Amino acid sequence: MPPRAATMLEPHTPPDLETEPHVIVRGEGVKVWDSQGRSYLDGVSSMLCANLGYSEPRLVNAAADQLARLPFYASYGHRTTDVSLALADDLARISPIPMGRTFFANSGAEANDSAFKIAWYYHRSLGRPERTKIISHENGYHGTTVAAGSATGIGHIHEGFGMPLPNFLKIPCPDPHSPHARGLTSDQFVDWLVARLEDLIRGEGADTIAAFIGEPVLGAGGVIFPPHGYYQRVQEVLARHDILFIADEVITGFGRTGSMFATTEFDLSPDMITLAKGLSSAYIPISAVMLRERVVDVLVNGSGGFGHGFTYSGHPVAAAVARESLAILMERDIPEYVRTMAPVLADGLDAFRGAELVRDVRSHGFLAAVTFDAASTGLAEGQLGTALMARSAEHGLLIRAIGDTVAFAPPLISSDAEIKTMVDCFGAAYQDVLDSIRA
Ligand code: PLP
Repeated sequence: MPPRAATMLEPHTPPDLETEPHVIVRGEGVKVWDSQGRSYLDGVSSMLCANLGYSEPRLVNAAADQLARLPFYASYGHRTTDVSLALADDLARISPIPMGRTFFANSGAEANDSAFKIAWYYHRSLGRPERTKIISHENGYHGTTVAAGSATGIGHIHEGFGMPLPNFLKIPCPDPHSPHARGLTSDQFVDWLVARLEDLIRGEGADTIAAFIGEPVLGAGGVIFPPHGYYQRVQEVLARHDILFIADEVITGFGRTGSMFATTEFDLSPDMITLAKGLSSAYIPISAVMLRERVVDVLVNGSGGFGHGFTYSGHPVAAAVARESLAILMERDIPEYVRTMAPVLADGLDAFRGAELVRDVRSHGFLAAVTFDAASTGLAEGQLGTALMARSAEHGLLIRAIGDTVAFAPPLISSDAEIKTMVDCFGAAYQDVLDSIRA
């Protein structure tokens, strides 16, 4: 047998790496163990998705029961399964928008691709097939498939692939720390951002634009909290030009920010909401597009066919796990728990404010980041983040570096003590890295 690294083309990993991958073999609560027997607190819920931790028996049983009863039947050609329909009903009951229907897929990127296609289908149904362009943010992250990856505004996702596709347009990132915000009040920065959106729409012609997609909090772009009121202004502009608004809640959905949906919390009114990760607490792949009633109405009166779907859309085992995950979130009021515990994370990280090399500390719910300024260290951009991530692992904490920003997104069940230990491990890693830079 060749070594595992030689047979698997690893996602988001340079193919020429010769070292062995870090192999995780077991999980319990908010901890995981690697193949060397070392344990780690997971400060980032793997990819901001293992929201209920790694050993929730109800999710395991939900999967096992469904596997025993009906492991699979496809939702295709007006035949589906009881549990797929029941999950759509569950989502309709808690939806933050006047709900028409939910479409199921298997990943965040598939949900976003589906939302774009539904936007195209919507405009065609209204007799305006020339509305094809999709607007998104520089630094936004929407996945890596050809369409969702084109909406993603992060350069290294495009490099080597001849992406983005034409017709995927970008507006500046609503990052309060961007150079564009320098010297402006928050309101002035919002004005500037909205003016860029209006310029783009004017330049391209509103009648060529199908939809805008944005994350309520930009995750993979660096845990960026847009300035207050930004999305309200954006959605006003979109509504005026009849451009559909897709809220990408793949990270924020299901409790991460301390509410079931950021859409409610930030008072958004999107036409579609894309969801994945927390929908099943990552125990099994499933994603969804929630469609506002008025979008569904147009589809219903549209061209008749709907040649879109996946073999595993609404997979019954995934649907059963998602239903149980939702039940747990509601019974235990996990969003309220996150709101209650969020200050523990925020206060812990606040201790780094003003510390050497620290440029910014920010946090909301169980989503937080510390951004470092490595300019004075002689390190290339991103090296400090990588070093902090590696040292944190040595201290028993898994976190994620995005350039020189370190992201925290603990499982939503993390206890007070676990969060404090995560922050302590990070503090120890920070001290080590600082010492080695000084040396
Ligand atoms: N949208 C957002 C906001 C994400 O953070 C991600 C993944 O991190 C995606 C979409 C893509 O999801 P997936 O990796 O399941 O395709």
